Amino acid sequence: MRNVVIIGSGCAGNTAAIYAARANLSPLVVSGHEAGGQLSLTTLVENFPGFPEGIHGPELVENMKKQAQNFGAEYLHGAVLDTDLSTRPFRLNIEGEWIETRTVIIASGASARWLGLESEQKLIGHGVSSCATCDGFFYRNKKIIVIGGGDSAMEEANFLTRFGDEVTVVHRREEFRASKIMLDRARHNPKIKFLLNTVVEDVFDPAQHLVTGVRLRDLRNGRIWEQDVDGFFVAIGHIPNTKIFKGQIETDSEGYILSKGGARTNIPGVFHAGDVQDRVYRQAITASGAGCMAAIEVERYLEAEGH
Ligand SMILES: Cc1cc2nc3c(=O)[nH]c(=O)nc-3n(C[C@H](O)[C@H](O)[C@H](O)COP(=O)(O)OP(=O)(O)OC[C@H]3O[C@@H](n4cnc5c(N)ncnc54)[C@H](O)[C@@H]3O)c2cc1C
Repeated sequence: MRNVVIIGSGCAGNTAAIYAARANLSPLVVSGHEAGGQLSLTTLVENFPGFPEGIHGPELVENMKKQAQNFGAEYLHGAVLDTDLSTRPFRLNIEGEWIETRTVIIASGASARWLGLESEQKLIGHGVSSCATCDGFFYRNKKIIVIGGGDSAMEEANFLTRFGDEVTVVHRREEFRASKIMLDRARHNPKIKFLLNTVVEDVFDPAQHLVTGVRLRDLRNGRIWEQDVDGFFVAIGHIPNTKIFKGQIETDSEGYILSKGGARTNIPGVFHAGDVQDRVYRQAITASGAGCMAAIEVERYLEAEGH
């Protein structure tokens, strides 16, 4: 029987593990198929406090993991495949084996939606990004493309005009999902251009390990052309990793966990941390902060239960 199982090994899960381990709760962290979480996909992180020169994403999460292990946190490879949160103790199926735990911290993140092109996947962290707040700074006086037609695409495009010389929004339709106010703001921004009814066919150049351009296709007339680009931002949404809690943990219509205050979910003893609940900030530091909150709540919950 575990005191606490932490689902996910990104910033939220690792920080929760540090706090829970230092509270002598011997946490078990289930790493998931993306050990280290989203930061393991990126290169330099310049906005995590404490690193004046920046730090590489994989190194940052690995340091967090080592810090948690130093205090006794245990890490398991693999993913949670199924959960039964209807009875106490809670039951989690990890790669086919059921284990029991008094509390759970859900830190399973929200995965960015990508276009799915092979070249795009190879260049994530090397010019391809899903986070303007994180990576915009690297594109001072550069050419940037933003993919998408919703509010987040407009927000990212507007934000990126602080850095880039030129920001092109590429959208596959004529109509936008973005709200009028966000769209108007983007349309009135002189640095933003729109390419509608257009899709990206390829991103160059994986061989050079950096983005140098794209191949585009106009869906109305089939015209294909290439364009020089330095930064490629995909803003077509995120998918919260909550499928395994369906019908048990309350979520909003898109699957983000609904918070019941602090780190609490609708089930006492099950807590949330990080991007799996946060559709607004989605940063390493906010996820870490949320991990800290969840671990403190676990500690208090177990104490109140007499453990
Ligand atoms: C390319 C890129 C660059 C970024 N750059 C920055 C930056 O410079 N600065 C910044 O502050 N933020 C940056 N971010 C955002 C930041 O990475 C996220 O906000 C942060 O990682 C969220 O942490 P998290 O722990 O909540 O979730 P995640 O990092 O998404 O981690 C989720 C974890 O849950 C695990 N998991 C999922 N499902 C299961 C399951 N069923 N069983 C077990 N485990 C599971 C995954 O394997 C993963 O380990 C960037 C994001 C990306 C994609």
